[in-house]
Amino acid sequence: MAVFLVWLNLSFLAGKQYENFFYLVAFDLVVSFALVVGVVSNIIFRDRLSSLVKEIDRQRLLINDYAVESALFLAIVEMMEIFGKDISIEETLDRVTQGISNFFSNEIVLVQLFGQHFFQNVKGENIHLSTETFEEIATKPYPILINNLESFPKYRFLKEKNISSFILVPLKSKKDEITGVLGVFSKNNRNFSQKDLSLLRMISIPISLILENMELMEQTKVLSITDPLTHLYNRRHFQQCLEKIWKESMEKNLSFSIAMCDIDNFKFYNDRNGHLAGDRVLRDIAGILHQNIKGLDIVARYGGEEFIMVFPETKKEIALKICDNIRRKVEEVEFTGEEFQPGGDLTISFGISEFPSDGNTADELIRKADMALYEAKKQGRNRVVAA
Ligand code: GH3
Ligand code: MG
Ligand code: MG
Repeated sequence: MAVFLVWLNLSFLAGKQYENFFYLVAFDLVVSFALVVGVVSNIIFRDRLSSLVKEIDRQRLLINDYAVESALFLAIVEMMEIFGKDISIEETLDRVTQGISNFFSNEIVLVQLFGQHFFQNVKGENIHLSTETFEEIATKPYPILINNLESFPKYRFLKEKNISSFILVPLKSKKDEITGVLGVFSKNNRNFSQKDLSLLRMISIPISLILENMELMEQTKVLSITDPLTHLYNRRHFQQCLEKIWKESMEKNLSFSIAMCDIDNFKFYNDRNGHLAGDRVLRDIAGILHQNIKGLDIVARYGGEEFIMVFPETKKEIALKICDNIRRKVEEVEFTGEEFQPGGDLTISFGISEFPSDGNTADELIRKADMALYEAKKQGRNRVVAA
């Protein structure tokens, strides 16, 4: 623009058009003014633009922070919703991994529990880490954040699984024992930040609580269905199982058998050998019964020295054979002090009934099995009688 102005002036002067000199100066002034205004406004506009870009970046970061925080709160709320609910350990772990995936959506999320059961749940491509691996790398009481995997020889095996970086955070019980681990593994060269680590640590607190509570609930559940002396199912749980088997057999038109079992002359044994020896016999016989049933068969302690069994999809001839086999096994066992028993042996008797030929309801079938047991006692004990 400035060059054009100089050229215009020179050509005017060269053409000796002095009469238009006033117009030329006026034109020069206007153009120069326009030039100055242009340059100044350009500088001002550029500054405005760059501060606007900075502001947009700042807002974007804020929005990102906000999104991460809401994902975190949402994950915590979702997890707290399952707190105390009667859902399986698998489903709980599934919800937990899903919760963490909310803010590590492109990475592999892994929840691992140690303890009684080795539970593992993975979101994303499974990288198949074995128990030994976890014992090796994950049973540390502190979190681990590794971005430069190459520099850590002991984590190099993860490189073979195409992992580029990872974070591990331990799950701890109230007693500060390590119960599991949360892991986020990247195959996308993600550079994990301290913030990522803090997020995972934050979420590990409610997860630890939920998992510990769930384990306690599991234990309580097991206790509520188990007889404390023999560790067999208790009568209440047996009745629930029997109800289910009965319904299924009705629907599918199948038969099943029930066996009532009672220790012969057990009062005599207790009186002669003491209650503690009697308890030992109860535990031993419970063990024999439990060892000699298969598949869907169920055995429970029905009362004092009485046991009950159900054999789904089994005719009473077969149930009779199974029970007679158990009876013989008990006869063969040498219980302490059994030589004083009538007949010199500690024995058991069974009464058997079958659905639907001996009754249509669970109660009726139990009553029939009990009557058959009474008959076995009447006939001299140490025998199996079918209704
Ligand atoms: P039968 O052959 O007719 O069954 O005679 P029995 O003596 O076994 O039957 P009875 O019903 O007269 O006595 C049952 C005994 O079982 C009485 C009780 O001392 C004993 N018993 C019941 N529950 C327990 C227990 O939990 N521990 C011990 N040690 N004994 C028990
Ligand atoms: Mg009895
Ligand atoms: Mg008895």
